[in-house]
Amino acid sequence: MDLLDTLVAKGLRRELPTREEALAVLATSDDELLDVVAAAGRVRRQWFGRRVKLNYLVNLKSGLCPEDCSYCSQRLGSQAGILKYTWLKPDQAAQAAAAGVAGGAKRVCLVASGRGPTDRDIDRVADTIAAIKGQNDGVEVCACLGLLSDNQAERLRAAGADAYNHNLNTAGDKYADICTTHDFQDRVDTVQQAQAAGLSACSGLIAGMGESDADLVDVVFSLRELDPDSVPVNFLIPFEGTPLAKEWNLTPQRCLRILAMVRFVCPDVEVRLAGGREVHLRSLQPLALHLANSVFLGDYLTSEGQAGQADLDMIADAGFEVEGTDRTTLPQHRTDAAEAAASGHGGCGPCGGEASACGSEASAAAEPVAAAEPVTAGAARTDLVQVRRRGAGTDLPPNA
Ligand code: SF4
Repeated sequence: MDLLDTLVAKGLRRELPTREEALAVLATSDDELLDVVAAAGRVRRQWFGRRVKLNYLVNLKSGLCPEDCSYCSQRLGSQAGILKYTWLKPDQAAQAAAAGVAGGAKRVCLVASGRGPTDRDIDRVADTIAAIKGQNDGVEVCACLGLLSDNQAERLRAAGADAYNHNLNTAGDKYADICTTHDFQDRVDTVQQAQAAGLSACSGLIAGMGESDADLVDVVFSLRELDPDSVPVNFLIPFEGTPLAKEWNLTPQRCLRILAMVRFVCPDVEVRLAGGREVHLRSLQPLALHLANSVFLGDYLTSEGQAGQADLDMIADAGFEVEGTDRTTLPQHRTDAAEAAASGHGGCGPCGGEASACGSEASAAAEPVAAAEPVTAGAARTDLVQVRRRGAGTDLPPNA
């Protein structure tokens, strides 16, 4: 396929595909699917080999959020029967994190529900980071605490946080459809605050919320413009008791196309297979390892993932290896660019070119695109959605 040859060549050069090329990946047929996976897999192997980075979620504070993100089981008015608890103590969080690290995770993601942290919350998280780092040599800590206020990113960085996660989730034009209590620009601002403070930015999307192909391409192009180091790709878990409970739009094949598109647009970025992989990819999960170079181990914030050992077995069976703390996840050119930016000597994102080249990519993102393809609905698999009942916030051991 000319399209795939072009995309591989661009991915190996860290060059941005056109919007039309990105849309064409999403429009490929099932007959072409393995060719698409193989092509994006070449780009993945160029920048990340066969390594898989494991990340471990610790939900520091669950439920009772005042925001109304319609995809979220912790939202205002959610009727989902999830665990609800306030801040874990640092030793409780460290205990949960230790299970993930023992399972092979090299990054611990500390997440708290809410619009954003208070300064007192930053103190709590700082103590938690100290507890985790004191017990686990070389572990990376990412904080995910919502919208940041002035100086909070700097305080997290000073406390030892390596990264900050805040997802864009969906296209800017669609953001008001999924949330009314904050907007797309609020999210962009927080990611940029984290970057300015020297934190590695993690920002991704949620697919399966009824969006069009053009919306998916929009959010991935917006992410590329923001240039995070990691991009989690979530597939909506339609929780009963949330407004999107009936949105079963994804098939395993569509999930693979979405991941391939993200890989082509963000070739040298840590693409993370995130929430919903078990529910939507099901038995095709191993193919996704050819596209993503990073996964969450074990359970999610409010739902249960497959057993941690099953994750490890899947990675080994598919011919991949768990990335150790002795390896740097990102390719050298990205590490160099981050260090240059931190020292005030500029540096550029995945285009690897001049700042003006990034600007031209941004304007390309604004070009009009063809009408959206209708999305083929997947079957509802409510049997695969299990509310988390173990690990943080319970007396039961975590899944790792
Ligand atoms: S702000 Fe976070 S926890 Fe609150 S509803 Fe939105 S996604 Fe859920």
